[in-house]
Amino acid sequence: MRVEIDRAACDGIFACLVHDDRFAEDEAGLATVDPDAAGVVDVERTEERVIATFEGDADAAALAERACPPGAITVREDVTAQSTDAAREGDA
Ligand code: SF4
Repeated sequence: MRVEIDRAACDGIFACLVHDDRFAEDEAGLATVDPDAAGVVDVERTEERVIATFEGDADAAALAERACPPGAITVREDVTAQSTDAAREGDA
């Protein structure tokens, strides 16, 4: 699944961490994804957003998405690591 964090919308409440420990706090006090956490395939970070591919526990990621007060997290369960790669190639 693909997990996106809108860094402009994130306000650092960290409800996401409570539900899914693949989320982490970055040096700016905003949410990011721990690239070394189990179930994290890859993580890309820009000024605006964090885009990660997760495999495994979809329920935890969905709970984090629902718990985020400003709606900064978007989880797309139909996006696999393979289709994310294809989308990236399409963007190039
Ligand atoms: S719950 Fe939402 S607003 Fe809070 S840290 Fe996580 S992503 Fe940011």
